Amino acid sequence: MSTATDTKWVYLFSEGSKDLRDLLGGKGAGVAEMTRAGMPVPPGFTITTEACRQYYALGRSFPAGLWDQVAEALARVEEQTGKRLGDERNPLLVSVRSGAKFSMPGMMDTVLNLGLNERTLEGLRALTGDERFALDAYRRFIQMFGKIVKGIDGDLFEEALSEAKARAGVKTDPELRPDQLREVVREFKRIYREHTGEEFPDDPSAQLRAAIEAVFASWNTDRAVAYRRMEKIPDDLGTAVNVQMMAFGNMGDGSGTGVAFTRDPITGARQLYGDYLANAQGEDVVAGIRTTEPISALRTRLPDVYRQFEEYAGKLEKHYRDVQDLEFTVERGKLYMLQTRSAKRTGEAAVNIAVDMVSEGLITKEEAVARVEPRQLEQMIHPRVDPGASANPIGRGVPASPGAATGQAVFDADTAEEWGKEGRAVILVRVETNPNDVHGMIEARGILTSTGGTASHAALVARGMGRPCIVGASEIDVDVRNRQLSVNGTTVRQGEEITLDGTTGNVYLGRVPTIEPKPSGNFRTLLGWADEVRRLEVWANADYPRDAEKARENGAQGIGLCRTEHMFMEEERLPIVRAMIMATTTEERERHLARLLPIQRGDFHGILQAMHGLPVVIRLIDPPLHEFLPNYDDLVAETTELRVTGRDPDKLAELERLMARVEQLREANPMLGLRGVRLSILYPEITRMQVRAIMEAACDLAKQGVDARPEIMIPLVGTLTELRAVKTELEPVVEAVQREKGIQVHYKFGTMIEIPRAALVAGQIAEDAEFFSFGTNDLTQTTFGYSRDDAEGKFIVRYLEKRILKANPFETIDRDGVGRLMELAVREGRATRPDLEVGICGEHGGDPDSIHICHELGLNYVSCSPYRVPVARLAAAQAVVASGATTK
Ligand code: PEP
Ligand code: MG
Repeated sequence: MSTATDTKWVYLFSEGSKDLRDLLGGKGAGVAEMTRAGMPVPPGFTITTEACRQYYALGRSFPAGLWDQVAEALARVEEQTGKRLGDERNPLLVSVRSGAKFSMPGMMDTVLNLGLNERTLEGLRALTGDERFALDAYRRFIQMFGKIVKGIDGDLFEEALSEAKARAGVKTDPELRPDQLREVVREFKRIYREHTGEEFPDDPSAQLRAAIEAVFASWNTDRAVAYRRMEKIPDDLGTAVNVQMMAFGNMGDGSGTGVAFTRDPITGARQLYGDYLANAQGEDVVAGIRTTEPISALRTRLPDVYRQFEEYAGKLEKHYRDVQDLEFTVERGKLYMLQTRSAKRTGEAAVNIAVDMVSEGLITKEEAVARVEPRQLEQMIHPRVDPGASANPIGRGVPASPGAATGQAVFDADTAEEWGKEGRAVILVRVETNPNDVHGMIEARGILTSTGGTASHAALVARGMGRPCIVGASEIDVDVRNRQLSVNGTTVRQGEEITLDGTTGNVYLGRVPTIEPKPSGNFRTLLGWADEVRRLEVWANADYPRDAEKARENGAQGIGLCRTEHMFMEEERLPIVRAMIMATTTEERERHLARLLPIQRGDFHGILQAMHGLPVVIRLIDPPLHEFLPNYDDLVAETTELRVTGRDPDKLAELERLMARVEQLREANPMLGLRGVRLSILYPEITRMQVRAIMEAACDLAKQGVDARPEIMIPLVGTLTELRAVKTELEPVVEAVQREKGIQVHYKFGTMIEIPRAALVAGQIAEDAEFFSFGTNDLTQTTFGYSRDDAEGKFIVRYLEKRILKANPFETIDRDGVGRLMELAVREGRATRPDLEVGICGEHGGDPDSIHICHELGLNYVSCSPYRVPVARLAAAQAVVASGATTK
């Protein structure tokens, strides 16, 4: 290991390059690259991110050798510029800016005009012949230094400035006369003294040292930490510090400052896009104090400068082979390039730019595929809240299903269904949802719940239907009985409009303008390239023929999960299902099941037909039976009312019977109770009916020449004996139907791997299972012992804040735990049965990071909601590109 003193902590811009981004940060690497390309960059140097990490490792002090290297680099900059820091006649002034590896716009600190004191101020005045300018630079420096280095409330300075303007009877800063500005400087220094107990430092070297430390410290401010969490940027990278000669954009009309993108970051159109502000410093643009002009204004104001800038912009884009976000300053007609970095862009722009750059020969198809964030595609599929709309959210929750919707708030599924069928736009608001609410969810434009997480019922049903959904909005008090919600002092009653943004989790009062999606030809082109690259197949979770059609339209290559219980919840079936559950004998139950059979057959017929030629995994009944019965608390309330009023004794008797059965079925931990395969074993007649329905539909279709490919899936299996018992029960049904229909259909029999034991004994389970499908919702729940319905609302958010968890395991597969179980199951399952088909149908199947893991584990496919299929196609291709193997 190198000792601290021989470590290179400081790089002159001329020594760095774009390949040193880890060490120099994005900004440092960018200015170094521009310097090397001979562009006019104000001279300077970069202190490395490693120095920042050491600064923290040493308990917030400079590593040995750092300050000496800063002094050396400064001397070189002084040589290059012919100015000296602190020189009374020809002072060098510098900016001190942060610059991390990944851009964190506006999150960290910057100090400008450093090097000014009463003496250098005179030098600056003499040099520029502009006293007003020099004084303005000085007051800005005191203000920034006070605020950033010493933590003084910035408003104190702003208020003092406003008072000075008021006293002078002027509106804008440039109208202040030099004597008035001198007064401002005096007042700023007084504020500084009052809040720090010391004089404003005159020594430029002390100023520099303090500013560097302040930038290091800004890596760990609350807002920087919060931003990193949101953007999934690691906390241990540290920031670099760039010290650079100041270029002044505020030296009159021949000066100015601007930011520009080499292409339009909203649409991707190939033209310079940006803002210019004449006679201003960079922070004026950001602060929005004055209205900027479009970048084209520079062409009229300073045509030569514009041409030069345009040339550099083109060169930089070619050099980086990506759209650049540029910052520049013009000082008395001389252009200075201050920053170049990859531009942030909308989903639409990302797709258009990637495809355009392939046709321009700038990048390859693989690079184009890797350039677009998969989640950005979601912006193109779902409506979204117009970013230009000036609306303030009334509350927030966990964004569970993307898109935006406005509708009248309703608080129960029946009203949602009724109003929805009348053609009214409704948003269903509940504390939580369960299968009893599905009929209302179908009619709702969006769903909001105050509890639950991303794998809760509301979330996955909404995602499946492509409706925006926000869950776990714990600050919102949902009062179902009084049909209203209240949040932060606002009350919304039934019928009042709200808008949900399922992409951000924001809830708005009233109607907020939204933007409709418009998938383009480029969108299809890019996905076509992704398909050429990817190895994983992409299937979809779909319960209804219309969802299957949507899935196919979006490119799904199969159905990975059809949850049959959702079909049981539909209006005309629920009474039959309930009667079946209430039956006291097997014979009675079978009678009701016989009525359900043709209905289920119709369901399967539709979905198998829609997917002809492609596999359809149909899962047999999974949820605990009480979920099909009325809610216990509602029953208590209703029976109590009937008892008290004495009204309708027949209804009371019926409800009491229902309640008795609900009580009988109630469990302390229903998620770990009588559900999944356990139901098939205790009530084999239910799954016998389901398998008969599947096979009858498949055989009927086969007779019509439709290639139906059902795969029968048993949920929640933990032992081979369970699976074998069910298989023994069901196989004769399959055989019988094929005999009766006189036709053979290709089908598979398999299981979900969704509890840890199943993964651990996968080698045994594969003896009877022809396929595995990872149910990572339950697998995550049972591996961590976290309730999938409660954990996100109760503690996962805190765990993420405290870094106890790096990511929400219900969103992204936990590689170390759940991922390890999956790896074991794939390996041991395939050891038993080499052609074992393995997929995933938990919500993680649509999450790009999880898709990478599935690719690495060698799964055959991922299955996700029909709307996420394009996202998954792209992510699956990116997994291949990331692994460096781009040939199929
Ligand atoms: C799962 O557990 O991941 C799964 C797909 O099944 P469900 O969400 O229906 O329990
Ligand atoms: Mg499950």
